[in-house]
Amino acid sequence: MSLERTLSIIKPDGVARDRIGSVYDRFERAGLRIVAARMLELSRAQAESFYAVHQKRPFFQSLVAYMTSGPVMVQVLEGEEAVQKNRDLMGATDPAKAAPGTLRRDWGESIERNLVHGSDSPANALCEIAFFFGEIDVFSRTPR
Ligand code: GDP
Repeated sequence: MSLERTLSIIKPDGVARDRIGSVYDRFERAGLRIVAARMLELSRAQAESFYAVHQKRPFFQSLVAYMTSGPVMVQVLEGEEAVQKNRDLMGATDPAKAAPGTLRRDWGESIERNLVHGSDSPANALCEIAFFFGEIDVFSRTPR
C-alpha cells in the first residue's frame, strides 16, 4: 500500500446541481482526505491546456465549452492508493456504463457531463495537482 495524492474536479454540472457535499461525503467515507480545495472558473486557455491530450478528439471543443460553462470545485485527495481509489469511486467515463453505486452512475448526466474528473495515474496526478495548487496550498494531514 502506498500513500498517494490525486487531483479531483467536480465539473460544472456537479457544482450547478449542488453535488459538492454528496461527492465529498463519498471521498471521506472511502478514506480519501481533502487536503486542498478551490472553487474556480476555468478560462478557455486553462481548459484547453488541462485537456491538451484530447485536442485531436472530435469532442474537444465541446468539452472545453462545457468545462468553462460555470464554476468547478477542484481538490487534492490524499489516502492509500488514492489515484485508483478515486477512479473506482468515479466509475467509467460514460455514466450509462459505470458500475452501480459509482459517482458517475448516480449523478453523471452524459459521457461528457459526467460530474467528476480524477487523475488516471500517479504521474499525471503530480502534474495535475501542480496545475492548480502550489506546495504551500496542500496540507499533509496523514502522518508519514
Ligand atoms: P476520464 O479519464 O474517464 O475522465 O475520460 P477521458 O480522459 O477519456 O476523457 C476526458 C473527458 O472528456 C471525460 O471525462 C468526458 O467529460 C469527455 N469525454 C470523453 N469521451 C467523450 C466522448 O466520446 N464524447 C464527449 N462529448 N465527451 C467525452
